[in-house]
Amino acid sequence: MSLIDSNQPTSSKAWLELAFELDAAERYDEALKAAENAYSAAVYADNAADVLYASRRLALLHFNQEALALALKACERARPWTEICNDPGAIAGVHSVHGGVLVELGDVETGLEIIHSAILLTKDTPDKIALWRSQTAYAVAMYDIGDYETAAASGRASLETLLQSDADAFLLLIGHSIAGRTIARAEGERKLRREPPDMQAVREASRLFNSVLDMARDGNNSYEMSEAHCFLGVLAWVCGNDVQAGEHYSRALLYAGRTRDEILTVEIGYWMAALSEATGDYRQAREYLQGIEPLVWAFEAPRRKVRYYKARSQLEAAAGLWKDAYEFHKLFHEQTVLDFKRLATARAQVMQISLELEHLRAEERRAREERELLIRENENLAIERQALATEALRDPLTGLGNRRELAAYCERIRQSQSHRCAVLLIDLDHFKRINDTFSHAVGDIVLITVARLLRSGLEEHDCPIRLGGEELVVLLPNTDPVRAMAKAETIRLGVSSHDWQLMTHALAVTCSIGLSEWKPASEDVDQALRRADQCLYLAKQQGRNRCVAAPDAGFADEAGAVQGDVASLGRE
Ligand code: GH3
Ligand code: MG
Ligand code: MG
Repeated sequence: MSLIDSNQPTSSKAWLELAFELDAAERYDEALKAAENAYSAAVYADNAADVLYASRRLALLHFNQEALALALKACERARPWTEICNDPGAIAGVHSVHGGVLVELGDVETGLEIIHSAILLTKDTPDKIALWRSQTAYAVAMYDIGDYETAAASGRASLETLLQSDADAFLLLIGHSIAGRTIARAEGERKLRREPPDMQAVREASRLFNSVLDMARDGNNSYEMSEAHCFLGVLAWVCGNDVQAGEHYSRALLYAGRTRDEILTVEIGYWMAALSEATGDYRQAREYLQGIEPLVWAFEAPRRKVRYYKARSQLEAAAGLWKDAYEFHKLFHEQTVLDFKRLATARAQVMQISLELEHLRAEERRAREERELLIRENENLAIERQALATEALRDPLTGLGNRRELAAYCERIRQSQSHRCAVLLIDLDHFKRINDTFSHAVGDIVLITVARLLRSGLEEHDCPIRLGGEELVVLLPNTDPVRAMAKAETIRLGVSSHDWQLMTHALAVTCSIGLSEWKPASEDVDQALRRADQCLYLAKQQGRNRCVAAPDAGFADEAGAVQGDVASLGRE
């Protein structure tokens, strides 16, 4: 598997996936880092749903490590995002863990309320998996507080939901396992209270765990194999099949050893002890419980010890060792008080966390605002720069390119390695007279109109330029003299045949065009312009409203005939 250092995802989703993989590989610290990166990336992208998915993962990672305060912090930090997010599944995902953490901390009332809100939020959405998550959170919370009957009912409901979804094989496995565990535990507890089993529930849970075994075997999932055998053992014991129960427990222990899961090992230990105790083998039962004692002590939560001392006290009472039973009961009581005290500590912690988060949120907000400002400024700068750059290259009256644009365009042509480029130098005829007769303003409009006519007759990549006054130039890269002359004629006719009378009565406009060929590899464009200017001079001399090509290399030979024809055409 790829590591954080060697594979740096940038999107929140990619980080989240990595966090999930690392968690599955039991690399919690790295998984936490990846989830924190997923959170930052989502905040940066301002994506509320991704912020919530990342927060859920972070909270779950902490929760599974029993770091409840940190889990709580991750949920609290996500709170403002739940208010702006419009993905109920994402919101419910955080609520589910948040509620679970609060229940685990002892604030059962608030916790269940939050989980309930997650269920309501997802009940009518098409996202069945989100509803399953919320219902599962409820089942697990009930299980944690020891209300196994309610947990079983919710476990059942959650599995029904999951079966209506398009869950993948992994989720189906988890769904079966959670439903099975809640139902089986309820039956186990019933037996501990010496109540008769609900055989229908027993069969149901057995079926679920047999499916889990089938699914887990395929995926080689030791944790699920272990849990399934543990609860199949409980179910066998409930039905009075002690031998079968013992066999399941042995297998459960084997698989638990493979995943080195302490919580599972402890769970199996309790049920093995219960089995021995029920057969009157108190010594064996005591050994089982003493065997798991160091593991129980490794857990921080007093609730884990509560269960242990309760089991020890009950065992010694059954064995008739009343003094020991009393001592263990005292310890049980002590831990119960500690568990309640934890609620007060938890509430204080929540307050502290809220304060810290106020800070954090303000900072996040400031950073976001600064970032937005920066982005806006950058955008404006880019627009201004673009406008300035465009302005510097444009002629303000006609919108055509200016001399600077011509230089830049020539450079592009040179770089494109064009070996020939036709030059069309266009000059309006008797423009001074137009100005004098019709006013300078009409002269301006004529210039603007000619520019428009010129543009409409050219290709996208052609680059018409206003050199100054009423002198324009068009460069046609890779154009042979015949096509260049044809183009020049089209332009000339376009100007002369335009209905100028629409603008002002008696207005007529014509132009003359001088053509030359520029060889970008061997000469400066000014040299070609000079030759074109000489042709233009000839055109004016010959009576204007015509095109004349330069007799420079190749051009006159190829275009000479054309020149004669079109020149005569233009004289009409
Ligand atoms: P020819 O046919 O020989 O080219 O005659 P012409 O009158 O067009 O030539 P000349 O170069 O003598 O006159 C150009 C005129 O163009 C002179 C100037 O007043 C006018 N002109 C230059 N720039 C502008 C402009 O921006 N707007 C207007 N309306 N006139 C301009
Ligand atoms: Mg002129
Ligand atoms: Mg002129």
